[in-house]
Amino acid sequence: MKRLAHAPNLALATLWADMLTAAGISCRVLREHACAIAGQIPPDQSQPEIWVLDAADHARALALLDELRHAPHRHWACPGCREIIDGPFEQCWNCGTAMPGPA
Ligand SMILES: [Zn+2]
Repeated sequence: MKRLAHAPNLALATLWADMLTAAGISCRVLREHACAIAGQIPPDQSQPEIWVLDAADHARALALLDELRHAPHRHWACPGCREIIDGPFEQCWNCGTAMPGPA
């Protein structure tokens, strides 16, 4: 096991872990319950951590995580249903229409 990163919250930690797993990297979220005692321990010790099970995956996992963390922030109006899409999404969450223009 090798530590990959701290996540600011459990939701994000789980999201990252899911993404890494989908990419074929075995990983685990540790300290997932530490948030409950945040305030009693230093903040950097109360955040969930992502660990890769196989240290050989570490570099690839780090690159993937870096991509995810720096996903461009988008703000666009769906041409299909006029929903305003806010975030790194290239597809409308409401109706599935792809973001207009060059991807
Ligand atoms: Zn839409």
